[in-house]
Amino acid sequence: MLNLILFGPPGSGKGTQAAKLVDRYDLLHISTGDLFRHELGNNTDLGKKAREYMDRGELVPDEITIAMLRRKVEDHPEVNGYIFDGFPRTTNQAAALDDLLEELDQGISGLVMLEVSDQEIVDRLLERGKTSGRADDRDESIIRNRIEVYRESTSPVFEFYAAQGKAHKVNGLGGIDEIAERLAQVIDSLK
Ligand code: AMP
Repeated sequence: MLNLILFGPPGSGKGTQAAKLVDRYDLLHISTGDLFRHELGNNTDLGKKAREYMDRGELVPDEITIAMLRRKVEDHPEVNGYIFDGFPRTTNQAAALDDLLEELDQGISGLVMLEVSDQEIVDRLLERGKTSGRADDRDESIIRNRIEVYRESTSPVFEFYAAQGKAHKVNGLGGIDEIAERLAQVIDSLK
């Protein structure tokens, strides 16, 4: 099993790169943001609850997020591994993920962080907001809040896995294929 965490600030290219890695390594892509947007689109109770937080660029509470992630993982025991995108976003979520994988006799193979500057993130997200249909990409103050939340609550997740010797960084600037190659180099060294 190859279980990867694709890590980095909003707009760092996690979704784009996850799609490439899925093809290359035959993994199941689990994006908690996509799962929430799916619930939101279907107007479920979970979606309605999540929207309150997503629209402000805040994190959906851990309890809700972890339960949803657990369901998704448990529904797909047949896969070769998972690529987690946008999860874990707190050290509490990271500990819950480690517990879940341990129950399944698995573990995280590695976390790879895409490094991108704040200004590049704002520019990319505003650009994406023109077509993504995402309310949280359209407003610069919400984008700045998401970056702040990343810095405060999410960046400690890197240290959490660094303490296990599992955290890696790659330069997130450049062409899509170029970045995919940098990621593959790190991932191949994990296997
Ligand atoms: P994303 O598509 O990863 O940028 O996520 C969009 C929004 O969904 C975030 O700003 C949060 O409101 C929510 N979200 C996604 N993943 C998580 C998570 N792991 N924990 C809490 N909230 C999340």
